Amino acid sequence: MARQFRIQRLLSETAGNNLLDIPHLGFLRHVEPTGIKDWFKQRWGLEPDGVVLPVAHPEGLLFKVEGVEEPISPYGRVSDALKDFQELVHLFAQQGLNIYLLLNPTLEFVRAAPLHIVDIVGDSSHALCICNPTSRALIGAILGTAVDIALEATNDTPGKLAGVGLDIVDIFPMGARKEKLELTCFCASCEQWFEDHAPGLLRRFKSFPNPWNLVLQDSGTGIRFIEDIPPDSTPDHILELSRQKGFDKVFGDRADNLLYLREQANVLLRYMQVRHEQVANALSEIFSEALHNLEQPIARFLVMEGAEYGWTSGVFLKEFDRIPLPGLEAGDGIPCDEIWFDPAASDLMLTNMPFRSYMWGRARYYIDEFLRAVNSVSNPLKRIATGVALFSEAAAKALVRRRLQQCVARAMTGSTILLSLPPLRSPHTQSQRIGFVGTLLTQDLGEKFIEEIQIAEGLSESSEAEEKGVSELLDLLMKSLRNSSSDGSRSEDDD
Ligand SMILES: [Zn+2]
Repeated sequence: MARQFRIQRLLSETAGNNLLDIPHLGFLRHVEPTGIKDWFKQRWGLEPDGVVLPVAHPEGLLFKVEGVEEPISPYGRVSDALKDFQELVHLFAQQGLNIYLLLNPTLEFVRAAPLHIVDIVGDSSHALCICNPTSRALIGAILGTAVDIALEATNDTPGKLAGVGLDIVDIFPMGARKEKLELTCFCASCEQWFEDHAPGLLRRFKSFPNPWNLVLQDSGTGIRFIEDIPPDSTPDHILELSRQKGFDKVFGDRADNLLYLREQANVLLRYMQVRHEQVANALSEIFSEALHNLEQPIARFLVMEGAEYGWTSGVFLKEFDRIPLPGLEAGDGIPCDEIWFDPAASDLMLTNMPFRSYMWGRARYYIDEFLRAVNSVSNPLKRIATGVALFSEAAAKALVRRRLQQCVARAMTGSTILLSLPPLRSPHTQSQRIGFVGTLLTQDLGEKFIEEIQIAEGLSESSEAEEKGVSELLDLLMKSLRNSSSDGSRSEDDD
C-alpha cells in the first residue's frame, strides 16, 4: 500500500475556492472550453470552481451594449459552435463552473478624447479615466450588460454568476522624461476633484523636484518606485524610505533641510489620500451602476498588484481591509467585497476582506501589457500612433513575442507554490484568503495566439525597416512604446 506523506494533506488544505482567469477569448481557439477543467487540473492538481471571463478586449466590446457605439471584437465569436458571449457563459456554467466577469476599465478602443487620461504636462493617451462621470456611466453600462447576459445564460445551469470585478492594476499609467515624472491623471474631472478636496495641492506637483520625487525616480527605461507605504504612514516614515533608496538626492542642497523635506512628505501623503478617496468613490459608483435593481446581490471584486500603495491604481490596498462602519456599508468608501492580488508582491495578508491570491507576478499588469501590444500591431490606427507602422510584419510579431516572454516569466504555476500562500480562512486563522486564481496563458498558448493575429498593414513595409536589424528596431520600438504616455512602464525589473 502506498504510504501517505504530510505534503499531500497540506496540499489538500490549500485548496479553497479556485478560479481560472481567461484574459482573452482568443485563447479559447487553442484550448477547448469543454477541456478547461482538465487544463487547470494538470497545472494545479485540482479542479477549478469557476472561470473569469473578460467583458471587453483592448480592441473592442464582446457583445452589443445598448446606447454604446463602439467596435465589436472579432474574438466575441469563439468558434462556429460558440457564436456569442451568452453561449460561452452557458457552456462553462453547464459544466458546474461559476462565472466571474472582469473588466479592465481603461477601454482603449473608446475614441472620445475628452474622456481620456491626461498626464501632468497635459498629454493625453488612449485610455479612459474612470474618474469622470461619462466614463463611469459607459463602464457601468458595459459591465451591467455583461451581468444581464450572464444571468440569463445561467438561469438553468448548475454554475451561477458569482462575481463582477474591475482590473485596476494600471488605470493611471506613469512615464518619465529627463528625471521629470509624468503621472496621470490630471484631466478636467481629476483636477476638479483635487481642487474641491485639497485646494491648491496639485500646483505643488507642477514644479521640479516635487513631492513625488521623494518616492519615485526616472530609471531611464521606466520608473523606480517605493510602494511599501501603508495608509497610516507618517512624513518621517516617507523620508526614511526615500533616504534608504537615495531618492532624496534629487533635492540637491535641500536634501539636508529636514523641515523642507517633511513638508514635501506631508503634501505627498495628502495627494495619495485624496487620490485614494477619488478612486474608491469612482469604483463604488461603477459597481452601483452595473448592479442596480438586481434580485440577488453579486460579489464585487478588484484585481490589484498587491503593493501597500499602488501608484498605477491610486489606492492603498490595506485601506479596503478595515472593518466597515456599522450602518454605513454602501457609503463607507469600501468599494468591493473581495480583492485578488499577487501573493509575492508584499507580505500583505487581509484579516477582514476576503481575498484570493492571483498567481502571476504583479497580477494582471504584464498580461494586460501583452494584450495591449497585440492590439497595437493588429489595429491600423494604433500601429500608426505608436510608430509600429514602419516595421515589417516579422518585426511586429517579434515585438509581441518579446512581450509574451516578459509576461510568462511572471507566471506562478505548479501545486507546490500553493503551499506558500497565506492560510485559508478558518476558525484557527486571521487570514481571510478564500482561494487562488490561475491564468489561462502559457508560452505555448501565447505563441499559437500570436501566429493567428492579423498584423495591420504598415506604412512602409520595406526600405527603412529592413535596413536596420530586427533587434535594433525592437529596441527603438520598446523605447517608443515606453515613452508614449499610453504605456506607463515602470521599475527596475522591467526587462
Ligand atoms: Zn482623470
